[in-house]
Amino acid sequence: MTTLTALSLTEARAGLQKGDFTSVELTQAYLDRIHALEPKIQAFLNVTTDHALASAKSADQRLQQGDTSPLLGIPVAIKDVLTTKDIETTCASKILKGYIPPYTATSVQKLFDAGMVMLGKTNTDEFAMGSSTENSGYFTTRNPWDVERVPGGSSGGSAAAVASQMAPVALGTDTGGSVRQPAAYCGIVAVKPTYGRVSRYGLIAFASSLDSVGVFGQNIEDTALVLQAIAGHDPCDSTSLLAEVPDYLTEMRKGLEGMRVGVPKEYFADGLQPEVAAAVRAAIDQFETLGADVREVSLPNSEHAISTYYLIATAEASSNLARYDGVRYGARKNESTLWDTYRATRGQGFGSEVKRRIMLGTYALSSGYYDAYYLKAQKVRTLIKSDFDRAFEEVDIILGPTTPSTAFKIGEKTDDPLEMYLSDIFTVTANLAGVCALSLPCGFDNQGLPIGLQIHAPFLQEARLFRAGYAYQQATKWHQQHPTL
Ligand code: GLN
Repeated sequence: MTTLTALSLTEARAGLQKGDFTSVELTQAYLDRIHALEPKIQAFLNVTTDHALASAKSADQRLQQGDTSPLLGIPVAIKDVLTTKDIETTCASKILKGYIPPYTATSVQKLFDAGMVMLGKTNTDEFAMGSSTENSGYFTTRNPWDVERVPGGSSGGSAAAVASQMAPVALGTDTGGSVRQPAAYCGIVAVKPTYGRVSRYGLIAFASSLDSVGVFGQNIEDTALVLQAIAGHDPCDSTSLLAEVPDYLTEMRKGLEGMRVGVPKEYFADGLQPEVAAAVRAAIDQFETLGADVREVSLPNSEHAISTYYLIATAEASSNLARYDGVRYGARKNESTLWDTYRATRGQGFGSEVKRRIMLGTYALSSGYYDAYYLKAQKVRTLIKSDFDRAFEEVDIILGPTTPSTAFKIGEKTDDPLEMYLSDIFTVTANLAGVCALSLPCGFDNQGLPIGLQIHAPFLQEARLFRAGYAYQQATKWHQQHPTL
């Protein structure tokens, strides 16, 4: 049955609908593959076998009754920062060890309602803070293309699971690049929707003005189908948008003819790995061959993106993480005074990167420094957003690299947080501006590591990302390459 795991979501859906196999068989094939590959990859914090088989059974009943819902009976992996009722959710933090949420995140609930089968909760950097999963409080996930390398982060568990075909699709979250960067490192597709397109209800907060739920898939159509199911307004999240969600699969097939494509001149600077630059340039040429009208644009404030992001994200994190004090949330370490209890709970429960961010954020928000750091960062954020507004007056989408290099070695950047932060240089701007973006495979470097192409589109124009990505994917087939495991 293991060959079932080689199917894309779209292929598996056809097989389920025709009755070639059942959801229980499909789910069992994935569970077997997880069992075989997990010792090597370590993508999952928790494999929810019983839950999966029970959901698969009820999906089979719906299938037998003639239900043709597109995601019915299809397995999915869920990043462990999205809450799941009655199933442990830890954000890969020791402080949340044993936390059983009383409710399910809206994005996950929508997948359950659509009949999807959750295989398990995936590893991440603690509270989604990181770019490699090395900040997980439990273990580091391996890149399926080279197990000595990181899968990217923070949604590295979800990305590695999809890349190694331990799940056909997965949910992740993206605050500064956490679905796009690991998708690029693992050679798969990921979409970060517009801020507010998908409900954040049940997404355990890192930086609330930047957080978004994203989707991983092996190709554009699978990714689009899952976003279709989770997008839309949610009364439980006051920042979720009331806008209509178009039919992505119809929009996706419209081709590139006449599409105006912008290439930011700031994106091809020093520090970009030459093979990444070459692959992205080749992809841009391919867009032109396919009928797009390519021109240069400028995003002049991109150079301030990392500093702006790491001030705003840490400031929001320091206030969001105040709730883990052992009283409201967090595994309590009892001491004789309240103060000592707080100190022991937070001191032992959080890892060093989370502590670093709480300290940086508290500093940026403190009364003597607020104007110089937090307030200034907010102003620069507005400039970064205006860069996109201006560029999108001239072009329909923006193309560039997702990351400055391919996947780095485990341990290579752990002693140098700034080096680690710089791997987000091309991704944080979309979160600061609130626009949507997608990463898809566009080649390999000379060590056989995948390279990601990033597409940006304006506010709520996810359909354009899929349209551009699909046309490119059909012409190039990079997405059909899989790691040998
Ligand atoms: N790598 C970035 C960070 O560490 C982004 C993380 C994310 O998007 N969750 O903040």
